[in-house]
Amino acid sequence: MDIMDGQGYIPAFQKNEKLEGSDWLLAIENRRILMKNLGEKLCIPERAELTSVLTKYILDEAAEVNENDIKDGLIEEYIGSYNGHACYCTRISEQIECPEGFQFVDLRELTSQTGDPGLFILSGAANHILHWRSMNQYCGRCGHKTKGKTDERAFACDHCGNVVYPRISPATITAILRGDEILLAHNRNFAPGLYSLIAGYVEPGESLEQCVEREIQEEVGIKVKNIRYFSSQPWSFPDSLMMAFIAEYDSGEIDVDKVEIIDAKWFRADNLPLIPSTDSVAGKMIRWFCER
Ligand SMILES: [Zn+2]
Repeated sequence: MDIMDGQGYIPAFQKNEKLEGSDWLLAIENRRILMKNLGEKLCIPERAELTSVLTKYILDEAAEVNENDIKDGLIEEYIGSYNGHACYCTRISEQIECPEGFQFVDLRELTSQTGDPGLFILSGAANHILHWRSMNQYCGRCGHKTKGKTDERAFACDHCGNVVYPRISPATITAILRGDEILLAHNRNFAPGLYSLIAGYVEPGESLEQCVEREIQEEVGIKVKNIRYFSSQPWSFPDSLMMAFIAEYDSGEIDVDKVEIIDAKWFRADNLPLIPSTDSVAGKMIRWFCER
């Protein structure tokens, strides 16, 4: 399995004028994106065709929006390109009625609905940036209104000089191996019967390896060794970067915390429970373990 599949998205702050495809507009409401319904398939809408139907619904999220952010009446932001298309994102109101010929799709179901895992990454980036925008309209230090900077993706406060960049929250996720078995756990918030890998946010002052060891110790009570980097993946719900590791079982008996994790077991590849989809790095790693 190609662990890097779905990498059509190239993040950028300013538009590359050499892009030859039509401009796309990712219009996101809460965790849903507005897709064009072509009958046989769903597509990201072209910016021109969506602009006119959306203008009246766009959230008035900033009274003093940077002029560069307003185009055709929309508060939108360039986020990079996807297979030659310049991509913009905008937040739309929850009150919007779905325009004719369009359809709302849950961001987490974009791959299964379109067959293109890259759109999941692209729309995740849009969700991440829109979340960051909505959280930083006012300065966290002095409370004054912020303004979008024109030379980089950041908000600046003219009053106190504070500059706020998009926050990315690092987290680790680990495949724990013991011979021909992998440790999978059922989290309290998972769908019934779903098992996945151990994951958690990195604490201030902590290395990634220390985070792996701590999360595993806290959640399932065992020690691991030979921690090795595997891959990484943005997880933009709303702002994580998942860093995936493989570790070998060292010692201890499984003892779940009963707070986050309510069950954990060792599984062989031929006897797996329900596992996450390949949109998540967990789903990719568990399939990698099976094909090893
Ligand atoms: Zn300030």
